[in-house]
Amino acid sequence: MEEMDTDHSTYPDDGRLKTELDEKIFVNRSLTLEDIKCYGFDMDYTLAIYKSPEYESMGFELIRDRMVSIGYPHEILRYTYDPSFPTRGLVVDTTYGNLLKVDSNGNILVCSHGFSFLKGLTIQPGAEKQSWRSFFDLIVVDTRKPLFFGEGTVLRQVDTHTGKLRIGTYVGDLQNGTVYSGGSSDIVTDLLNVKGKDILYVGDHIFGDILKSKKRQGWKTFLVVPELTKELCVWEDKKNLFDELKHLDIFLAELYKHLDSGSRDCPDISTIQKRMRALTQKMDTAYGQMGSLLRSGARQTLFASQLMRYADLYSSTCSNLLHYPFNYLFLAPPVLMPHEVGAQSLDLAASQLSSNNNHTIRN
Ligand SMILES: [Mg+2]
Repeated sequence: MEEMDTDHSTYPDDGRLKTELDEKIFVNRSLTLEDIKCYGFDMDYTLAIYKSPEYESMGFELIRDRMVSIGYPHEILRYTYDPSFPTRGLVVDTTYGNLLKVDSNGNILVCSHGFSFLKGLTIQPGAEKQSWRSFFDLIVVDTRKPLFFGEGTVLRQVDTHTGKLRIGTYVGDLQNGTVYSGGSSDIVTDLLNVKGKDILYVGDHIFGDILKSKKRQGWKTFLVVPELTKELCVWEDKKNLFDELKHLDIFLAELYKHLDSGSRDCPDISTIQKRMRALTQKMDTAYGQMGSLLRSGARQTLFASQLMRYADLYSSTCSNLLHYPFNYLFLAPPVLMPHEVGAQSLDLAASQLSSNNNHTIRN
């Protein structure tokens, strides 16, 4: 708690801090905007922001009604969309019908069967008046990502009056104002006369937009994570729970400190483990029924590990790019390895123990 108070004294206006964080772009790997020749954007949920949760509710109802019309039980009609239930990156276990939240190694963090938890279209108005196409050098639709980042499909020209595709494969140079359909990332880089590393691609889909463009083409990547706004708020509010989890970890290390392979006594750690589980659950509940998009207690999700590995930058919205100059150097924060964290923990433990001799663990 003492640490939290110190943090807050640096930022007297709590509301301001949250707003600023929400406008920030976070850096996994350093990147200088000066080297970027092309900015690419995905459309759905990146450039086109839908009204949420109304849009998702509509999708839910259309799918639900369609399922009933093709023979699923009428009972499912009583369900409505609950935005607090799902989080992105969940895995469907098709064998047992479970919904799983997993870490990067596939270990299960949270599991639900139906709604019981097992232990252990509206585009923003205004876009049509001035042609949005005038803001882009190249527009490609129906790209069929992630196929686009591999073999791709045939590139065709779209007749912007009728919306129909022109017959035949498009060959020739890039024409301003032309809308294309299909193609591949190779064709696009050729048309733009740039290399993969010259492109900063912004998208909301961790697999189709980010993982594939990074892994197969070496594009610079920017992941849009709209959930980050809520994640930041909850993190600020519940950071004390995470701090307590860290302290318990240090406490656990203390218990084993003077034991070695010759020790016969086995310390009883069940109370600490129970407390760790309770803290994890308390943190998870603050985010929603499935917990945070990025972690469960001290453990990070598969989504979080893919985000760190494949997205150079990430932020709650692509428009946060407007807060940075075009020659900005995004510098990644230093990441500590476990042995370095270990050395730091020892220092922290020493200061903790000296400042708080009566540290006790309660259920
Ligand atoms: Mg999208």
